[in-house]
Amino acid sequence: MSAAWRVSVDPHRCIGSGICAGMAPEHFQLVDDLSTPLADQVAPADLVVEAAESCPVEAILVRDATDQRLIAPGS
Ligand code: SF4
Repeated sequence: MSAAWRVSVDPHRCIGSGICAGMAPEHFQLVDDLSTPLADQVAPADLVVEAAESCPVEAILVRDATDQRLIAPGS
């Protein structure tokens, strides 16, 4: 498993539902009604994947920091 993941939120997709921040407040916060990752890189964590999978508009992308492989959301 990779040592680090990169987490990003597409501000053009995010509709400010707050689901991610509610599920994983240690990873996401709402700033001006847009989700913002608290850190660009995180240690691999199921909660980050679950938040990305739960986003209704797939605004959250989680990638392997080394090879950019897409971790979540899945298809
Ligand atoms: S779950 Fe998706 S749409 Fe909702 S605040 Fe988070 S990134 Fe934005």
